[in-house]
Amino acid sequence: MSTLEQCKKYPGAVFQTELTIKKQYGSGRSTLWEFIALADNDKDTGEIQGIGVDISRIKDAEEELIKKSRLLSASAEIVTKLNSIDDWHSALEQTFSIAGRVVGADRVYYFENSRDEDGEMVTNHRLEWTENNIEPQINNPDLQNIKWSDTPEFMEPLKKGTPLNTLVKDLPDCYTKEALMVQDILSILVFPIYINRHFHGFLGFDDCTDEREWLPEEISFLKTITNNLASAIERKQRLNELEELNQHLERQTRYLERSNRELEQFAFITSHQLQEPLRMIKSFLTQLEKRYGASLDERAQNYIRFASEGAVRMREVILDLLKYSRVSDGEEEHAEFDLNQLVAEIMAQNGKLIMEKEADIQYDTLPVISGDRTAIRLVLENLITNGLIYRPKGRGAELTIDAEKLSDAWKISVTDNGFGIKREDQERIFNLFERVYSRDEIPGTGIGLAICKKVVEKHGGEIWVESEFGKGSRFMFTIKR
Ligand code: ADP
Repeated sequence: MSTLEQCKKYPGAVFQTELTIKKQYGSGRSTLWEFIALADNDKDTGEIQGIGVDISRIKDAEEELIKKSRLLSASAEIVTKLNSIDDWHSALEQTFSIAGRVVGADRVYYFENSRDEDGEMVTNHRLEWTENNIEPQINNPDLQNIKWSDTPEFMEPLKKGTPLNTLVKDLPDCYTKEALMVQDILSILVFPIYINRHFHGFLGFDDCTDEREWLPEEISFLKTITNNLASAIERKQRLNELEELNQHLERQTRYLERSNRELEQFAFITSHQLQEPLRMIKSFLTQLEKRYGASLDERAQNYIRFASEGAVRMREVILDLLKYSRVSDGEEEHAEFDLNQLVAEIMAQNGKLIMEKEADIQYDTLPVISGDRTAIRLVLENLITNGLIYRPKGRGAELTIDAEKLSDAWKISVTDNGFGIKREDQERIFNLFERVYSRDEIPGTGIGLAICKKVVEKHGGEIWVESEFGKGSRFMFTIKR
């Protein structure tokens, strides 16, 4: 029932309706009307009074608000999509389709810049979304490797960071205009994409049905989308770089592990092989001394002595190297054992050295730990004997061995009152053959701490030293609980 019919039916009641009054040219005006049929009027002949108000501005504002809120929610949706970089390609496709639909564009496209084989700057069509009835151009070979120098009207403003917003007919006659017209494009809006201040490519919006004048809010929406896309590309690039770096690191680690294994094998084989000729040298030197010693002069006897001492030292190095190369992962050897018992064993074995160094060795109640007992014994024995050896003459060695319970490990420490170690030497002494004193001052091979480090690291722990030069050192290592 129309409003006027309702009025007639219910005299005295007010009825409202909105009417659009069409103009001959341009858009119509929206009006709000109120009608009333006076109560005592004759139902059929009586008059209806009406009053109308122009509400065009309210209506326009309402429409604008709806449009803006549509752009805003599209914007939010696009940001979410672009953040889901897992499926990057489909995120971009969805972004293009949301943006294209909400502004009513016919085609959305993305071009990426690069250098061609001759080093010239070119741009390439990479991705596209088109409205249903618009012919896609993604497979158009003419849109690949387009030289910047062939399309200056298009590329120059973009290079400078200026968007292109023009009707195709307004472009000067040029290759770009021709190419756009062949694709039936009537108007273009193109934004440059800058990444790390570098002109990376552009995002464009075509209209093939209208000579379109873009509204400021549409331009600002599409600009925001372009900026979001630039950030997403940048993030994606960083992720790719990170992934490449990770792969490189993994390859490097695998290579290092392999070459380490080979090196250990080499050390093992060579030190093993050297033992036999060394035994021969040693035994012939002994024979020489025994048989001809009496007939040789003092200098010749000294030569034999130096050679024998050299052979003994070489044997020490070979044996230590063998120990070093034998340190394995030893996972299968892991078992629980009592550290107190282990320390007591080490002390019993080194009784002579302890006596010589007038040593006092203290250890609190040490825990039961889990690991390769033989390997951990090597560690503690090296640390304890070093604590005995590296102390000034005339000072009785004082050693303390204790354990601290950490959240997921035990921290075992061996503290001495020896020479101490200067800060600059505290790291390198854990490397193979690194020593602070010459052999003449204090004999040794420089392999002991390298063995400790290898064992501790194979157990997933760390080893380090804290020391004050001239006062003493505290060697510490962790072992998983
Ligand atoms: P070596 O004792 O056979 O030289 P190590 O690898 O055990 O080999 O030790 C390397 C060097 O670290 C030693 O030569 C010594 O200079 C220094 N060092 C090790 N332990 C101590 C310690 N407790 N106090 C002072 N210096 C030490």
